[in-house]
Amino acid sequence: MKIGIKFQLIAFTGCLLFAVIAFLSTSVLNGVKTYQESQIVDTLFAQKDLFELYFSDVYRQDGDSDKEILDFTGSVFDKTWLRNIPASLYDTKGEMLSGFSDDSSTDKNDEKANMIQSALAGQVVYREYDSVVYFYSPIKYKENTIAILELKYSVTEKNKFYVNIQNMFFTIGSAALLFGIIFGILYFSKITRDIYTMRNSVENIQKGDFKKVKIISRKDELGELSSGLIAMSNTIEKNIKDLQGERDSLSLAVSKLEIMGKQQKEFIGNVTHEFKTPITTIKAYGDLIGMYPEDLNLITEGTTKISKECDRLTSLVERVLNLSVLEKYDFEIQTIDVNLKEALNDICDRLSGKARRNNLEMTWSLSEVVINIDEESLRHICVNLIDNSIKYNKENGSINVECYREGDFGVIIVEDTGIGIDEVNVKKVFDAFYRVDKHRSRDRGGAGLGLALVKKLVERQNGEITVTSEINVGSKFVIKFPVVEN
Ligand code: ADP
Repeated sequence: MKIGIKFQLIAFTGCLLFAVIAFLSTSVLNGVKTYQESQIVDTLFAQKDLFELYFSDVYRQDGDSDKEILDFTGSVFDKTWLRNIPASLYDTKGEMLSGFSDDSSTDKNDEKANMIQSALAGQVVYREYDSVVYFYSPIKYKENTIAILELKYSVTEKNKFYVNIQNMFFTIGSAALLFGIIFGILYFSKITRDIYTMRNSVENIQKGDFKKVKIISRKDELGELSSGLIAMSNTIEKNIKDLQGERDSLSLAVSKLEIMGKQQKEFIGNVTHEFKTPITTIKAYGDLIGMYPEDLNLITEGTTKISKECDRLTSLVERVLNLSVLEKYDFEIQTIDVNLKEALNDICDRLSGKARRNNLEMTWSLSEVVINIDEESLRHICVNLIDNSIKYNKENGSINVECYREGDFGVIIVEDTGIGIDEVNVKKVFDAFYRVDKHRSRDRGGAGLGLALVKKLVERQNGEITVTSEINVGSKFVIKFPVVEN
């Protein structure tokens, strides 16, 4: 069974107070009693001594040893000093000679007779009955006990005084005990409230509910304990947060690794597939030429096809290598300040012939913008985009290239009025080996690697590329690079 600390403290204080009060009261009351008793005994002995003195004096005066004790008693009880304490005299047979006989109980009379006998044997004896102390002392003459003196001392007043003090101690003691317990309840309630607050805080730390951990403001050990608890809770909370953060980044890294593994598998599958097609064609033509060495037409067609497939293979190898190098290695790039107007003018100039040959109109409108970029990468990006605009255009279509400054960015736009890309495919055009129309792309020597490479190159130069497209209307590629301030 669990006994609460509050109850324990109050019970302990109550018991301690009770013990202290009881000890103090008993000690004081015992002291009073002992003092009263010694006072009574001293008074009785003094009275006895006085009586004995008078007695020996009177006897010496008379000088008659045979004089009846009775004569003496007659004279002695006239003395006022003897009336202070009622006294009686008994002869050696225990019979009262003079004094006050009282009509008391047989028990008391028996006890009195016993005490007289003890006095006759030479002892001084006394005992209290009904608030009266009975005192017996032998009276001697020439070594012989000739009578017994009885003194009756009333202790009613003294007993009353004792009872009053006893009652006073009881009342004050009870009040002190009650007051102590009430004060204890109030004082310990505050302490136990704080202890319970800390216990609840510990439970909340156990549950991980750190917001509910409360501080208590005290300038003692409990206050220090509470501050320690808060500090501990903060450390645990921080450690848990750190661990959670690490766990999150670890699981993010794991999922990234999983995605990368998957992408790598797909990439290898795609590469294998892309390589197989031209190799199969080359092999087939090689075999056919071997089988029919005299067929000149076949030889002409075969060599053309083989050469075309070899070109495809070369461009494929180049792109795959570029892409994987960009993916894997963080090689240094040689960036220089490039005036986009000049660079794009040169590229457009060179590609306009190809556009013309494909019956396409190519225009460009360029403003002065300087960006810091690797020139070769810029060339690769722009050539790829313009080349795609030519490849995926329509008869008599057009291509427009622009560059201008927009805020802190240099913007390049390559726009065409080509076949366009639908909403679903436009999100995937930057994925490696992704082609909207496989046949059309293949016919034009594409393997779906151009835009993947472009995106990688743009991002490596701190730029971003976006595309908007509408099927049968055209596509618009927008690239932004940070400008170089003059
Ligand atoms: P590819 O070598 O096949 O051209 P790209 O990565 O350059 O590969 O382009 C991916 C696919 O995006 C292309 O196969 C094509 O279907 C589509 N595409 C790219 N540019 C354009 C464009 N300007 N207009 C329409 N479709 C385009």
